[in-house]
Amino acid sequence: MAKMNPGFLNLKKSYLFIEIGKRVREYIAAHPDNKIIKMGIGDVTQPLAPVVVAAMKKAADEMGVKETFRGYEDSGKGYDFLREAVAGYYKSFGVTVSPEEVLISDGAKSDCGNIGDIFSENEDVVVTDPAYPVYVDSNVMGGRTVHYVNSTEDNGFAAMPDESMKPGLIYLCSPNNPTGSVYTKEQLKVWVDYAIKNKSVIIFDAAYEAFISDETLPRSIFQIEGARKCAIEICSLSKTAGFTGTRCGYTVIPEELMLETPTGEEISFMQLWCRRQGSKFNGVSYPVQRAAEAVFTEEGYKQTRATIAYYMQNAKVMSETFDELGIKYTGGKNSPYIWFKCPDGMDSWTFFDKLLNEAEVVGTPGAGFGKNGDGWFRLTAFGTHENTVEAMQRVKKLLSK
Ligand SMILES: *Cc1c(COP(=O)(O)O)cnc(C)c1O
Repeated sequence: MAKMNPGFLNLKKSYLFIEIGKRVREYIAAHPDNKIIKMGIGDVTQPLAPVVVAAMKKAADEMGVKETFRGYEDSGKGYDFLREAVAGYYKSFGVTVSPEEVLISDGAKSDCGNIGDIFSENEDVVVTDPAYPVYVDSNVMGGRTVHYVNSTEDNGFAAMPDESMKPGLIYLCSPNNPTGSVYTKEQLKVWVDYAIKNKSVIIFDAAYEAFISDETLPRSIFQIEGARKCAIEICSLSKTAGFTGTRCGYTVIPEELMLETPTGEEISFMQLWCRRQGSKFNGVSYPVQRAAEAVFTEEGYKQTRATIAYYMQNAKVMSETFDELGIKYTGGKNSPYIWFKCPDGMDSWTFFDKLLNEAEVVGTPGAGFGKNGDGWFRLTAFGTHENTVEAMQRVKKLLSK
């Protein structure tokens, strides 16, 4: 019999959303007429912006006409029009990247999960605990050893480097899913200096950069001096522009970023990644790239930022509720997530059941994102305004008793 990849045996069971689904289904079966409000899963609810839909339709029409039909994209790196639009977007907040350094992807998850392919199996990995599960799982599948740095109440859920570790890869996510915390420029500078010293590469997941409104906070790791020597940045239009079902993102790889060959020479990170992508990826569909281009137009920016403002209004209602209740939390500002401490020392799953049974609100137990998540709980601002307000009234009633 063909042997399986043994790395899969080291994966932790991914039972989080399965278990949540099971408990919610059981509750609904027992209370079929009640209104449950779901604030658990990190998916958006508002539709695509009108300019985005118009661009996608126009591109679909082009595909139906012989003269404008497009087949395989030559490079698979993304069309120039979109790579230039992304570079222009970076420029709008003061970061210089060239269009050649921008690679269009079908979303951040694929690139976060696949980037490990170009690193040696012997390079260790550093991930924060708690974290988005993709960073750990993809490296465990690849046979690499994962070490954790702790995000805790004491450091505001902003894990900092552990000097005893010498990782090849470091995954950072800011604004963070699940904790909603955002690294300051000073904190990121510490990470960048650490990465340069240890010749590590930082994989910076900036999927939520568009939710930052505080201009003192970094939206890109390339706002930090030295980052071009040690970091790549992975972005997505999923949360920024409602593309969770449309699928488009982009990854920025600085030209000067290098990895080491087995004989001790330097090789371009970009060259290796493009070789990998050329073998396993054929690019993003033309209509979707045109839709993505529309996000970066003046009108597209206005329309997509209005949707983000809608979500952030929800986040405000949520953070005000927890302020009033005197419950500790991170996020809610510059992030669509609120991460709060379960009351009365409850563990995450006990609180999950209490919230479901007594307030009919569904959230995500922090324990599902790592050991430091236990005793903490995540709610998302991606619901409708009406449901968010109602859910917060229920939470207030439940927790001020
Ligand atoms: C939602 C999310 C992404 C985006 O994934 P896509 O594949 O682009 O939909 C990436 N990273 C984190 C941390 C996320 O929460």
